[in-house]
Amino acid sequence: MIIAPRLFQRKGNAGKLSCQMSMDEQTAPRAAANSVVSAKTRRYLIGRYHEIVLKGGNRWRFVEQLKRNVRSVFADCGCGRIRSEGPRLMIEIPAAVPDALVHERAALLFGLQNFTISRPVPRELEAITREAVTAARGSRARTFRITTKRADKRFPLNSMEIDRIVGAAVAAEHGLTVDLNDPELTITIEILPDVAFVAAGKHAGAGGLPVGISGRATVLLSGGIDSPVAAYRMMRRGLQVDFVHFHSHPLVSSASREKAYDLAAHLTRYEGRSRLALVPFADVQREIVARTLRPLRVVLYRRFMLRIASAIARRSGSAALITGESLGQVASQTLTNMTVIEQAATLPMLRPLVGMDKNEIVIEARRLGTFETSILPDQDCCSLFVPAHPETNARIEAVMEAEAQFEIEAMVAATVAKTEMIELEFPQQVARAAADSR
Ligand code: ATP
Ligand code: MG
Repeated sequence: MIIAPRLFQRKGNAGKLSCQMSMDEQTAPRAAANSVVSAKTRRYLIGRYHEIVLKGGNRWRFVEQLKRNVRSVFADCGCGRIRSEGPRLMIEIPAAVPDALVHERAALLFGLQNFTISRPVPRELEAITREAVTAARGSRARTFRITTKRADKRFPLNSMEIDRIVGAAVAAEHGLTVDLNDPELTITIEILPDVAFVAAGKHAGAGGLPVGISGRATVLLSGGIDSPVAAYRMMRRGLQVDFVHFHSHPLVSSASREKAYDLAAHLTRYEGRSRLALVPFADVQREIVARTLRPLRVVLYRRFMLRIASAIARRSGSAALITGESLGQVASQTLTNMTVIEQAATLPMLRPLVGMDKNEIVIEARRLGTFETSILPDQDCCSLFVPAHPETNARIEAVMEAEAQFEIEAMVAATVAKTEMIELEFPQQVARAAADSR
């Protein structure tokens, strides 16, 4: 296997994949560590758990995984102490790391329902009010609300009283109107046993479970619309994923490989590290074309793909394969064909999109930011030498008979040996790609 750390030039679109840091920002963590961060500038990213709150005795495992993921996603700018307290995770953010960067990175963390960038203040009404008034300064909002949570019920005022008193001060100072139902600005106050936190603006988290908690799996990434969404959905359930892409280069252009790279890099932002296997499939296809009648070709392509993907996935410790299949979407995805095809896999198959229609998948791909890359023109390997009317109802007996002519194990081994492996890393790789392009 060839280990190629960076196969493709990023053609200046590395920035699309992530937030690149300027050189000032990259040296900032060191500067922050050297300076004494005053209480005034201290900030915490406070994330509130999504499903993790429902976990019982082994909740700590989920929290520990999330902490590791936090350190990974902030690897290039650093973060300070991380502490879990009740339903929330508190992460100290170095002074020099801009809010926008914190937002962008925090939104990549599966396991959080929502998050704020909060400032710590003494547990005194006056200090809390002062900070809330400061936090609302500069906001363009016309309406607001205060949302107080008392983790420590010994605080002399209850949440509604705090909302009212602090809200009145903010309204008087900035001329804002209170809107409890649909405010343009939410100021969050949290009162813990030793400190209070105040934040302006609450952001939606990525939800789900921390990446890595559910083990590892391999996604068959086609370069189309569906498979990146499938990958995202399974990462959101806590799976660390690697990618396998089959291409027919040099029979067709290398466009699908470049798309697969871009999509894998985009998705890797959610998990920190992954591997992309680029599998040259043209030789297998030639053999299938030479020896198989047209209608069965797609089914045979797919079965070979699953055998090869299973072999690659096992090497990297994956426990399952993931595809973007959706029932009835194309000829290879009838129930009969999916059943015949999956029998060639030697790992369990996960199909998170099986009950979704194309419109639903497109909406999710747009939200995920993969749609624009997915629709770039390419030629998928499975579209080569395919008949206008492929078999939709393949019989396993006919398939086995057709496959009897192939040296299956040797073909799989030869293809795996020619596979290019690319290691992807976020955020370090993006910083390197930016440096390379300078
Ligand atoms: P996508 O489903 O990603 O939009 P597509 O619609 O072109 O691409 P299908 O023909 O629907 O792909 O294939 C179903 C699934 O098979 C894909 O979602 C993907 O998981 C897998 N697959 C198809 N082609 C490839 C390929 N060239 N490399 C890796 N996996 C593939
Ligand atoms: Mg599809």
